[in-house]
Amino acid sequence: MAKLRLKKNVQKILIISIIVILLLVISIKVIINNKKQKEYEQTYEYKLKSIGYNDEDIKTITTKYKDKEINYILKNKKDDAYLLLIKEKYFIYSKFYDYLNYLNSNPTFSFTKIIEKVNTNTNKDYYQDAIQTDISKNYLMLVNKYHYLDASYNPELVTVPLTYAYGTLGSQKVTKDTYDAFINMWKSANEAGYKLIINSSYRTFEEQEKLYNSYLNEGIDVADSKASRPGYSEHQTGYVVDITCNGASNKTFHETETYTWLLDNAYKFGFILRYPQDKVDITGNSYESWHYRYVGIDAATYIHDNNITFEEYYAYFVEAQ
Ligand SMILES: [Zn+2]
Repeated sequence: MAKLRLKKNVQKILIISIIVILLLVISIKVIINNKKQKEYEQTYEYKLKSIGYNDEDIKTITTKYKDKEINYILKNKKDDAYLLLIKEKYFIYSKFYDYLNYLNSNPTFSFTKIIEKVNTNTNKDYYQDAIQTDISKNYLMLVNKYHYLDASYNPELVTVPLTYAYGTLGSQKVTKDTYDAFINMWKSANEAGYKLIINSSYRTFEEQEKLYNSYLNEGIDVADSKASRPGYSEHQTGYVVDITCNGASNKTFHETETYTWLLDNAYKFGFILRYPQDKVDITGNSYESWHYRYVGIDAATYIHDNNITFEEYYAYFVEAQ
């Protein structure tokens, strides 16, 4: 009898032990799963998913944005703008919030337009928040309605011989690199049967001031439409040549074959048509078929091949680098 009771007790202990072990295992599993779930709930993936982004969106956001911007995105409702803006060719990371602000006030604009306007400052009025030109960029420096040279800027220049220019000797000056590039271009044009003539080149701050002030008696709007304010003319860089040919004026130069030749070839020597007809809203300058800017062969080739302005090139490839 005693033996049988002992056997039964052993069985009982065994069953209870198994139940206890099973309960323990289940509890541990539940604890681990809870912990895992809590950890998952802390991830960007979980948080973005709960706002409504799909797997592909989440991949885009978490791979292309940094923590600060992801947290900003998380604080807001689901918005495709975050995904589409960063896929734009000329998206500049540091301008993310400026893009969003501008988009907010211009909801009908395309994302390409938003990027273009903000990158080139043309989301602002002319001369608004203008900053001093970064002259350390040398032949890639930008002078326009938002970037100015102060009166003390005094570039090293060489005189253009009268073989290549109108005026009196010494009246036409450019930087050495501009001069060398121009001579190469002049020779190539000459071989093709075209004779380039420099009409205007370097201008001092004081000369620009005189020019601008001469229009001021007609009012500031007229003056602003006819000339750049002192400091804001690219002619003060020494990297500019206004080109003409025999028999043409600024008004008729665009009708000449010389102009067509320049359109097709200037970039090969590092020059760009600085103020094209269809880019007035970006350059802030009216169409000037005669005004060529030296930016070096690499930049000129990119600008020519991609049909963009120097403003767009500068924002993405020079300033943001
Ligand atoms: Zn000019």
